[in-house]
Formats: sequence, C-alpha cells, structure tokens
Amino acid sequence: EARKKIGIVGSGLIGRSWAMLFTAAGYQVVLYDILQQQVTDSLQEIKQQLLTLEKNGMLRGADSAEVQFGRIKGVTSLNQVVEGAVYVQECVPERLELKKNVFKELDAIVGEDTILASSVSTMVPSSFMGGLKHGANCVVAHPTNPPYFVPMVEVVPSPWTSPEILVKTEEIMVEIGQEPVVFQKEHPGFGSNRIQYSILNECYHLIKDGVLSADGVDKLMKFGLGPRYAWMGPLETAVLNAEGMRSYLERYSHIMHSVSADLKGPADWSLPAAEPIIQQLDQLFPLDKLKERRQWRDERLIAFAALRDQM
Ligand code: NAD
Repeated sequence: EARKKIGIVGSGLIGRSWAMLFTAAGYQVVLYDILQQQVTDSLQEIKQQLLTLEKNGMLRGADSAEVQFGRIKGVTSLNQVVEGAVYVQECVPERLELKKNVFKELDAIVGEDTILASSVSTMVPSSFMGGLKHGANCVVAHPTNPPYFVPMVEVVPSPWTSPEILVKTEEIMVEIGQEPVVFQKEHPGFGSNRIQYSILNECYHLIKDGVLSADGVDKLMKFGLGPRYAWMGPLETAVLNAEGMRSYLERYSHIMHSVSADLKGPADWSLPAAEPIIQQLDQLFPLDKLKERRQWRDERLIAFAALRDQM
C-alpha cells in the first residue's frame, strides 16, 4: 500500500518539527520553502536531529532514523506539495498578508479531499481563511514549541471549517502521537495564549507593585503551580485539593471572588513602562547565554517527555 503523503509549506523551526513528527508515524513528507537553500539546510538539520534522537533513545516511531529520514523529500513548487497529499501543514512566518497569500495559492491548486492546516499562533483563522473555494477544508493546527517533546496541539476551526475536517484533523494528530485540543469555535489567542497572558499579566503586577522579584515570581510557578499543572491541569488540581469541585467551591469561592476582584487586568507591556521588568530579567538570564539556556530547557523537556511515557 502506498504511504499517505503530507505536504509542509515553510521549512523553518516549526516546519521541520512537523516533518519529523509525520515521518515517525510512517507518512511520506514533502518539504517546501520559498528559499531553496532553506529546504537543503532543513533536510540536513532534520537528518542530524533524527540521528541524535536515535542515539539517545528518544526517536519516535518504529523505524530507524535513516528510514524515517528517507521518507522526507524536498520539493521546489507548491504543486508538488499538494499533489496527492492528504494533509498540508502551513508553517510560514506569522504575518497576516503572507498567510492570506499562501492560503489563496494553495486554494487554487489543491484537490477536494486535502486538509489545509495552519500552524498560526496569534491570528484567528477567519482573518486569512475567508473567501476560499476550499474553506471547508481549512483549519488551524497550532503546535506548542518544541512539538517533538510537547504534544499539545490546538485544533481550531474557522467559521467555514466542516465538522468532518475538524474530526479528521483530530484523528491525524492522535495518529502521530500528539494531544489535540479541539475548539468548538475560533477565539482570540485560542486557549493557551489566553491563559499564558493572564499569567504574565499577574506576574507583571506582582513585580511592578513591589510584591515579589522576577526570580520570586518564576519560583512560584516552577516549584509550586508548575509541577502540579504538568500532570493535571488547573481544574483537576482544584478537584483534588478538596472533595471534588462542589466542596472546593464551598471552601474557597469567597476567597476566589475577593482575590479575583483585586486582579489588575491587562498590564502596560509597552516600553519604557516595562523597563524595570526587562532589566531584572536581563540580569537573571543574560542575553549572551540564551542559547545555552535553550539547550538546558530542551534537555529537561526531553527528560520530562520520557518520564511521562513511563508513567
Ligand atoms: P521560521 O521563521 O523558523 O520559518 C518560516 C519559514 O517559512 C522560513 O524558512 C521561510 O523561508 C519560509 N517562508 C516564508 N515565506 C514563505 C512562502 N511564501 N512560502 C513558503 N515558505 C515561506 O518560523 P517558525 O518559528 O517555524 O514559525 C512558523 C509558523 O508557526 C508561524 O505562524 C508561527 O507563529 C507558528 N508557530 C511557531 C512556534 C514557535 O515557537 N516558533 C510555535 C507554534 C507555532
């Protein structure tokens, strides 16, 4: 049986990650970029990453790194991306006009059954998936960086996405080992950025109001809330902190109301207002050490993914 084909448009950081996830699950992958050199470099980088993962026992899927790499091919046109593809993942930079153009181009040449998914992080799908012939086949599949080790994908419909396409996209994400969260409708910031920004706003106020240092704020999360949320999420955490949600609310709803009424809402993230926070963070995390620090982060995320697989 011929292998099913996946098309990737844009072979930067995220395009490469998707290619690795899809080949691990046995798909044939074609990789396209507006810059030919970028495709060449990406293939090299993917090969290196797959071999390193294999050496460290972290390679996904049943096949060897060499076999997995053999299923990924660079192509030079969008036609070669869509031809016979069951699913195309757009991974071009986060600019509205660019996303609009790419979806228009794909729409003009794509077959009736191909899913067109976008990796978009910050714009709702209706802002660039409107007026298309194949709008029913277009959907958002927003990964979390680094996708190879952090499995959550936000699957978000535009107003025109068909229910079948939403279900099929969810199935494909499950098939490749990701954890799709399927939205009933689009929403600014989807879900994870809304939660992330609520957290960042409150962190900002705690620092700005002289309550905690930046280091103190990060410690709250990494030694307190973070480890619990890593396994359970905030709702189950609440349930387990009492005898179920009814009991949690009987005990804590009055304090939730009074603290919530005191929350400060959107912080002023503009410059120079945010300068004091920037200065604290630049000191804690020197800009010339970020590369090493990212490496440090990725090693921990890899170890964490392995631990989750065991449990
Ligand atoms: P990137 O800059 O690493 O890669 C983008 C690639 O797209 C580049 O190789 C570029 O040459 C190529 N490109 C530009 N115009 C193109 C076109 N018209 N056709 C084909 N290729 C084109 O960016 P990235 O970090 O991989 O992000 C891609 C998308 O994924 C963005 O929408 C981003 O918001 C989203 N995303 C990023 C992250 C993250 O943490 N980096 C996480 C989730 C989602």
